[in-house]
Amino acid sequence: MKYVIIGASAAGINGAENLRALDKNAEIILISKDTNIYSRCILHHYIGGMRDLDGINFVDKDFFEKNNINWLKGREVISLNEKEKTITLDDNEVVSYDKVLIASGSRPFFPPIENINGKENVVGLKSLDDCNKIIEIAARAKNIVVIGAGLIGMDAISGLIHNKNVHANLSLVEMSNRLLPLQLDKEASITYEKKLVEHGVKLFFDSKVTKLNINPKNPNLINSLSLLDDGRDVELLADLVIVCAGVKPNVEFLENTSIEYNKIGLLFNEKGETNVKDVYGAGDISGNGTIWSVAVKEGIAATSNMAGKTRVMDDFFFAKSTMNFFDIPTLSLGCLHIYEKTEGMIIDSIRERDGVYKKIAHKDGKIYGAIIQGDLSYTGVLTQLIRLNIDISKIKKSIFKIDYSDFFNINSELEFEYKK
Ligand SMILES: Cc1cc2nc3c(=O)[nH]c(=O)nc-3n(C[C@H](O)[C@H](O)[C@H](O)COP(=O)(O)OP(=O)(O)OC[C@H]3O[C@@H](n4cnc5c(N)ncnc54)[C@H](O)[C@@H]3O)c2cc1C
Repeated sequence: MKYVIIGASAAGINGAENLRALDKNAEIILISKDTNIYSRCILHHYIGGMRDLDGINFVDKDFFEKNNINWLKGREVISLNEKEKTITLDDNEVVSYDKVLIASGSRPFFPPIENINGKENVVGLKSLDDCNKIIEIAARAKNIVVIGAGLIGMDAISGLIHNKNVHANLSLVEMSNRLLPLQLDKEASITYEKKLVEHGVKLFFDSKVTKLNINPKNPNLINSLSLLDDGRDVELLADLVIVCAGVKPNVEFLENTSIEYNKIGLLFNEKGETNVKDVYGAGDISGNGTIWSVAVKEGIAATSNMAGKTRVMDDFFFAKSTMNFFDIPTLSLGCLHIYEKTEGMIIDSIRERDGVYKKIAHKDGKIYGAIIQGDLSYTGVLTQLIRLNIDISKIKKSIFKIDYSDFFNINSELEFEYKK
């Protein structure tokens, strides 16, 4: 059997390792544009200078030899022919496959703003190349603006804050009224806002970038941005702009195939199967649940099915993010901003002590979402309540005081056992 995997990140690497474990004799080829293996989740440590290339690598040095995987690195897949079962690379080499996993992930999305494309000092943040460009330009920049305060925008700004060679004025522009609008409410956002302000970052909420303005001395550079800040026109100087306004799937090489995808991403089921036989998908390429752990699980599920071992993608919670900016940890589960508008949903919140904030959305005894900030010790209990689908309306105490003893017995083996 000859397996080809496109993409050498969370889904592709874990998928390749799983394939080798399941099929000792197969030929496995891994193709990636990336020339290094690294975790994108800690790219801010690389920007900040806290970790080097080795520090962000998540595989052993002998990973490819040990697993007998042929890694074609620095190579781009430009087309796929599902009838011939072949893949064409950017140097026109044709690679055949029996089964293929598409795990080519996503890249930064640049919103339609005048002059945003093709400028040397306007970059996204997704790859190591992006980071190297950011580090290089940031060292000589006087004014840096990050567009978007989601997880990637927060990583960009915190990386810059920690980088000793960066002396620029830093600004963060966000369309919503808070940081991490998909993960946090305003109360949890304020905790991080204070930290950013302490580090000299200027925050612009409810603000929309309307135009990037070209440097009159060099048309390849921009030197400022125009903003509509809470209804007022503002001009912000910028010799580096980092665009963190979302991602789009790397599906272009599927254009002339019958493999189904849409604007959001590649379509595949919980086994990783696409609509075309022997073509599988996993990870951020789906455009759904674009987090590391989901990509890993999908890579393992898809490659198990490729190797003939039925496995379905199981994730007990879809939108789950953990973060740790300025040493303040936060867990965000579900989409609280949606649940807050859902009829019948009960929202309980508590500020237990300075820096410790908890909020839970529940309805008819079922937990739908939560924000836990400052002290994550409660998240173990919370995770079990959700995973075991426990009816919390039966527990007659504050939701924040629930502990294991409320729903677990210790059995004769001294193990926790759920009591119904
Ligand atoms: C800055 C940043 C911070 C993040 N922080 C977190 C976090 O804290 N927690 C979390 O859970 N998630 C985080 N994420 C998201 C997480 O990194 C992604 O969910 C994960 O990387 C997805 O893995 P993937 O394998 O699907 O694809 P990707 O990581 O996108 O990798 C795609 C791979 O495909 C290759 N490729 C693409 N196109 C082609 C082509 N045409 N030919 C050949 N190869 C190709 C690329 O070179 C790459 O190797 C973060 C992401 C970023 C960018």
